[in-house]
Amino acid sequence: MNTAAKPPANQRSTQQWQAADAAHFLHPFTDFKSLASKGSRVITRAENIYLWDSDGHKILDAMSGLWCVNVGYGRQELIDAATRQLKELPFYNSFFQTATPPAIELAELLAEVTPPQFGHVFFSGSGSEGNDTVVRMVRRYWDLQGQPERSVIISRHNAYHGSTMAGASLGGMSGMHAQGGLPIPGIVHIGQPFWFELGGGMTRDAFGLEAAGWLEKKILEIGADKVAAFIGEPVQGAGGVIIPPATYWPEIQRICDKYGILLVSDEVICGFGRTGNWWGCETFGFRPDLMTFAKGVTSGYIPLGGVMVGDRIARVLIERGGEFNHGYTYSGHPVACAVGIANLRLIQREHLVDKVRDDLGPYLARHFEMLAEHPLVGEAQSIGLMGALQLVADKASGKTFDAVHEVGMLCRGHCFGNGLIMRAVGDRMIIAPPLVMTHAQIDEMAALIRRCLDLTLADVKARRWL
Ligand SMILES: *Cc1c(COP(=O)(O)O)cnc(C)c1O
Repeated sequence: MNTAAKPPANQRSTQQWQAADAAHFLHPFTDFKSLASKGSRVITRAENIYLWDSDGHKILDAMSGLWCVNVGYGRQELIDAATRQLKELPFYNSFFQTATPPAIELAELLAEVTPPQFGHVFFSGSGSEGNDTVVRMVRRYWDLQGQPERSVIISRHNAYHGSTMAGASLGGMSGMHAQGGLPIPGIVHIGQPFWFELGGGMTRDAFGLEAAGWLEKKILEIGADKVAAFIGEPVQGAGGVIIPPATYWPEIQRICDKYGILLVSDEVICGFGRTGNWWGCETFGFRPDLMTFAKGVTSGYIPLGGVMVGDRIARVLIERGGEFNHGYTYSGHPVACAVGIANLRLIQREHLVDKVRDDLGPYLARHFEMLAEHPLVGEAQSIGLMGALQLVADKASGKTFDAVHEVGMLCRGHCFGNGLIMRAVGDRMIIAPPLVMTHAQIDEMAALIRRCLDLTLADVKARRWL
C-alpha cells in the first residue's frame, strides 16, 4: 500500500499515473505483465480530432477513439444534453411498464433514420450486449414460429461481435475462443470474404460469390430447418477493415431469402454514416431483419447500444410473444438516450452522412490511391471514412511478412511516435477517423501515414526482412 500523500489527480506526473495504473488497473485485451513493464500512454484531454497525452503531446486520432467518436471531441451539444438530463432525471428504468422521454424519443428517431423495415428498437448498454440480445431474440422468434429446432446461428471467422459470452462466440477470433470455453453451443463459423488473403487469383467479384456460397454450403450441411440466422458486419472492423467484394452481400441476401433464414447486420462500426450511408447494409445493398448498433449512436460520449428489430420479428414478438424475459438495468438509460438524440440531430444538421459519401470518402480514397503506390503497401482499400493498408514484403507478388517480425506493430510504434493513432491488425494498418474531418486534416493524416510507412520501410530494410 502506498501511503505517500498523492497530488491532486490531474497533476500527477506520467510516471505516477503509470505506476498506479500498473498496480491496480487490468486493461481490456491487454497483456498485463507487458503493459506494466512498458507503462501505458495516459490520455488526458481531447478536442475535435486531436488528443493530448499526460506529457502534453498532441495526437491525431485516426481511430475515433475506438471507432466511435464520429462527431469529434468536445461537442457542446452533447455535453449540454447530458448535463440537462442528469439534472432533470439521471436514471429511471424501462422495466415494469415505465419509460422516460429520452428513451421514447430516441426510439422514434432511430426508426426514422433506419431502413423502412425497422420500426422498433431494443436498447442495451453496449454492442456486446446488443448481440447477446440478438441471440436470444432470434431463438425466441423461431420458438414462437413453432420451429424451436431452428437455433443455429452462422457467423464468420475473424468476425468481431463483442466480448460477452454470446458476443465472443458469434465473433470468429480464435484467440478469444481459446479462453473461457467458447463458442457457446449452436454457433458455427464460415470463411470471411477477405479477397487479399483468400482470393487465390479470382477476380474480386468472382471471389465475393464464392465466399457467399460458403454460407449456402454450411446451411445445407446443417440442414436449413436448423438454422436461425446469419450475422455479419457489413465491413469487418476489428478483423482489419476487410471490405467485401460488391457481389458478396447481395448473394448472402439471396441465400438467406431462399432458406428463410434471418439476416443480422452488426452495424456497431458501420452505422451512423461511417461507410457514406446511414447504415452499412445500405452501402452494400442488403436488407437485414435485425441490426446491432452501439459506438457511434452517442459518438462514444456515453455507453449505449441496442438492436433494431425488423417488422417481421417485431410483429411476432409483440402479438404472440408474451413476456420477453430479457433486459438490462441500463436498457434505455435516459442520459445515454439524451446524448444519442443530440448526436443524431447533430449528424443530421451537419449533413455528415452526405458529406462522407460525396466529399470526405472520395477525398480519402484519392489519398489511399497514392498510398497504394508505397513500396510497403500491397493493398489499400477504403470506403467512406474507414480504410486499411496491407503491408507486404514483396509488392509485386503480394507476399506478406513473416508474422514473427510484427511489422504492423513496428509501424504502429512509429505512428505513436509521430503523433498519429493508427491501429495494427497483424500487418494491416487501419483507420476510421472522425466524420468531421476537413480536407486539410485528411491531408495532414495522409502525410503522417506516409512518414510512418517510410520509417517502417527503413526499419524493415535495416533488419533485412525484405
Ligand atoms: C465494438 C464492436 C462490438 C462490441 O461493442 P461493445 O460496445 O464493445 O460491447 C460489436 N460488434 C462490432 C462490429 C464492434 O465493432
